Amino acid sequence: MTLDGKVALVTGGSRGIGAATALRLAEDGADVALTYVNNAARAAEVVDKIKNLGRRALAIQADSADAAAVSAAVEATVAEFGRLDVLVNNAGVGFVGGFTETSIEDVDRVLAVNVRGVFAVTKAAAAHLGEGGRVITIGSCVTDRVPGPGMALYAMSKAAMAGLTKALARELGPRGITVNMVHPGPTDTDMNPADGPYAADQAAMTAIGRYGTPAEVASAVAYLASPAGAYVTAATLSVDGGHAA
Ligand code: NDP
Repeated sequence: MTLDGKVALVTGGSRGIGAATALRLAEDGADVALTYVNNAARAAEVVDKIKNLGRRALAIQADSADAAAVSAAVEATVAEFGRLDVLVNNAGVGFVGGFTETSIEDVDRVLAVNVRGVFAVTKAAAAHLGEGGRVITIGSCVTDRVPGPGMALYAMSKAAMAGLTKALARELGPRGITVNMVHPGPTDTDMNPADGPYAADQAAMTAIGRYGTPAEVASAVAYLASPAGAYVTAATLSVDGGHAA
């Protein structure tokens, strides 16, 4: 299998895209650590599923807004599994609100998880990643195309990841580490359920005309994590059903 002997850490791996990614990387052969913030039971379910695949798994409570906690999660992963090869920056919070109604407290709360938390966990992980290492950050289709009002804070937070990805690709490339983004389109999760009040509009904005599944996003992550993705870096892989078309 493509990830035999590798160790992955997926932030926000208890539900949605993160859970699907943790499972997919385990199916491809990796041992997987995942973080969560509130849902210990859901995290434990993902761990059980990974163990049933014959892989090692570890759930770590670590709020991405807490830089010390996410750094400790990296160290706990390495202590448990002895190495770290793949970091998936998935944990994120959504936000919809008009620009003038968005408070500075909202800005701090969203950036703490979607930007500062990614910086902190990636910094801690970079100390352990070696040749063949991977950093994959889950962005959003709104980085390419904002379909309507109310997205300023969220789009800003995800666009910041594009800058980080390109700059880090330059910095870590000489060490044989790739750094990429995956931009999901509307994807059926608790954050954005396919039967939610705005779902029909979001589906209609894609070229394919439907929501994506977490597993469809996970397969893009799996490709970038695999040896087949070794020459792809500073890239963005959109899994958005053509939302940006
Ligand atoms: P969900 O809300 O369904 O799941 C979020 C996951 O992240 C959960 O595992 C949750 O843990 C964890 N999490 C949330 N906040 C924190 C935090 N502060 N620290 C650590 N973990 C946290 O989200 P999705 O699966 O939909 O989204 C995953 C990523 O994909 C996000 O970055 C999101 O912005 C992005 N995205 C999603 C889209 C969609 O349509 N769904 C579209 C484009 C991008 P817990 O279970 O403990 O709460």
